[in-house]
Amino acid sequence: MGAICELCGKDVPETRSTWVEGTQLKLCKDCQKFGDKAKSGTSESPTKVVIESRLQQRERRMKTRDIYQEEEAFELAEDYSKRIRDGRTARGWTQEQLGAKINERVSTLSKIESGTMKPTDDLVSKLEKSLNIVLIEKVPLIKPEGKNSGGSSFTLGDLIKKK
Ligand SMILES: [Zn+2]
Repeated sequence: MGAICELCGKDVPETRSTWVEGTQLKLCKDCQKFGDKAKSGTSESPTKVVIESRLQQRERRMKTRDIYQEEEAFELAEDYSKRIRDGRTARGWTQEQLGAKINERVSTLSKIESGTMKPTDDLVSKLEKSLNIVLIEKVPLIKPEGKNSGGSSFTLGDLIKKK
């Protein structure tokens, strides 16, 4: 088992706790030279820049990790084109009529309904409102491992039922 250097993010055999710019970090051999005690006394400006940018990277990495653990994302449904077409035909509207209602070009609508173009966020919300359909789905960013195994992955139909 190795360890992750908190400065460069490399997977290394071992890390050592080192103070860098007032923060204690577990660093790989390469990064230990950035530690406060190891300052060479020569011009420190290039090193300082490196440290600052790496610390920022580290912060971003840690935030990202939290998001991945706890958050869910909202994504355009895979079958958005079908949902739009079904929603429109259920109301008996032509693409021209829908286009007139939401102030959108027929050529755009036809591309979206055929799945060759994804609607913009703005258009998604207009379509959802005018057709009373759902195009954005909540998806977990990490698929649970182990759970739900055995071939019974949930379908889009299950998602809709839950709402
Ligand atoms: Zn490192």
